[in-house]
Amino acid sequence: MTSLLWFRRDLRLGDNPALNAACDAGQVVPLFVIDPQFFDTAGAAMRAYQVDSLSALARACGGALVIRYGDPRDVVPQVVKEIAATAVHCAADYEPAGAARDMDVEARLYEQGVPLVRTGSPYAVAPGRVAKADGTPYRVYSPFYKAWLVHGWRGPVNPPADIPWAEELIARIGSEPLPARPDLEGMVLLPAGEAAALQRWKHFAETALMDYADNRDRPDFDSTSQMSGYLRFGEIHVRTMLADLGEFKGHEVYRKELAWREFYADVLWNNPATEHDYLDQRFVGMRYNTGPAAQEHFTAWTQGRTGYPIVDAGMRQLQREGWIHNRVRMIVASFLVKDLHLEWTQGAEWFMRYLRDADVASNQHGWQWTAGCGTDAAPYFRVFNPTTQGLRFDPEGAYIREYIPELRHLRGPAAHEPWDELDGYKHGYPTRIVDHATERDESLARYQEIKVAP
Ligand SMILES: Cc1cc2nc3c(=O)[nH]c(=O)nc-3n(C[C@H](O)[C@H](O)[C@H](O)COP(=O)(O)OP(=O)(O)OC[C@H]3O[C@@H](n4cnc5c(N)ncnc54)[C@H](O)[C@@H]3O)c2cc1C
Repeated sequence: MTSLLWFRRDLRLGDNPALNAACDAGQVVPLFVIDPQFFDTAGAAMRAYQVDSLSALARACGGALVIRYGDPRDVVPQVVKEIAATAVHCAADYEPAGAARDMDVEARLYEQGVPLVRTGSPYAVAPGRVAKADGTPYRVYSPFYKAWLVHGWRGPVNPPADIPWAEELIARIGSEPLPARPDLEGMVLLPAGEAAALQRWKHFAETALMDYADNRDRPDFDSTSQMSGYLRFGEIHVRTMLADLGEFKGHEVYRKELAWREFYADVLWNNPATEHDYLDQRFVGMRYNTGPAAQEHFTAWTQGRTGYPIVDAGMRQLQREGWIHNRVRMIVASFLVKDLHLEWTQGAEWFMRYLRDADVASNQHGWQWTAGCGTDAAPYFRVFNPTTQGLRFDPEGAYIREYIPELRHLRGPAAHEPWDELDGYKHGYPTRIVDHATERDESLARYQEIKVAP
């Protein structure tokens, strides 16, 4: 009996229930399908990271991994035919596009008499499982978190001691090469793959986890785990991390962050239209800026040239690392929506392209939360002041100097307010493209127009 193991967002061998299920059924052919529709349109960081991660997986599989290109709807049934597979195993995908693709693949396989067996998911608790007593889904995080804890999850599973790769079959059908790794022009990515994920997790647990509750909002410290990319590609399963955290009270804050990821996946699963649309439909009528001036503002935002140091440092961190600290994501997102009056979808699209941890549920709902149209009693009327946020969370200005060379000559917190320094602009840092106080009032007036003012 031969099973096809279809890897997608689970690029690991440890704690991978779909792999175990495939091994239970006989010999295994591991497959990853590169769909050019998605791969070719992703940003360079995402593509490079995916190539690195697949290389690591191929090594971990002892060279057994089969790479194919095309639409999985065609490729998976084709490989099934080539190897005469009796089943296809994978982890369930809960994102709207992935779930729809899987249903199409399942229907095609059905015609071949082959089942698509979904075992496990990228989450501790699969979306849709945590619900209120009346069966309806949660729209507010805190009660979701409590119910999620009560629901609980299984412990991690060990990989089979000896994985029965179907070596002869694999040699016969062959693999296509991995895509070329894009030139990253000075970008710095974390090392990819399961071993790197476990190593980063261990390093974080030993060095920063105990102080996470106090330091997590400081972008100038290496105080967060940077596990988001590893979770995005499934190089580690969240259950492995939760098991290490255990019941320890001191780890509560970190566990709560992992639960945000689970919450947003649940919200998206229950409201698939929110992949692009407003969760709170009252905000559909919100007035946004459009036209050439708005486009210029958007470009300045993407390039980190708005004249607000914390916003620009964040957007330049994105360019350099394909990642931004969470506090700064909130600041740059708030600035786009509430200072530049651009629609949140524009920023979300940019993030999806350039973040290496780009995740539909966390990203679209992170943006909607900031814009005030998402989950929770989101304080849409609370407009972040980028300068006071910067001074509060990067009090010494170290984060600014790290990412903005034009401000490195300014000492301490002065880096946040170059307009107050005689030599603030001597290295060409741009002046502010808008006045925050004016735009804050404008933003509140626009909320009044759609009658959702406080
Ligand atoms: C506008 C906006 C867009 C975002 N886009 C994404 C995205 O595309 N992908 C993504 O993984 N996260 C996204 N986030 C959430 C959060 O910013 C990142 O998960 C976090 O910065 C990743 O860094 P870390 O691993 O060091 O986080 P840590 O602070 O170490 O947190 C641990 C883990 O908890 C989860 N987590 C933490 N905060 C959140 C949150 N607010 N929402 C969901 N999960 C969370 C992540 O899996 C993270 O890896 C977004 C937030 C905002 C405000």
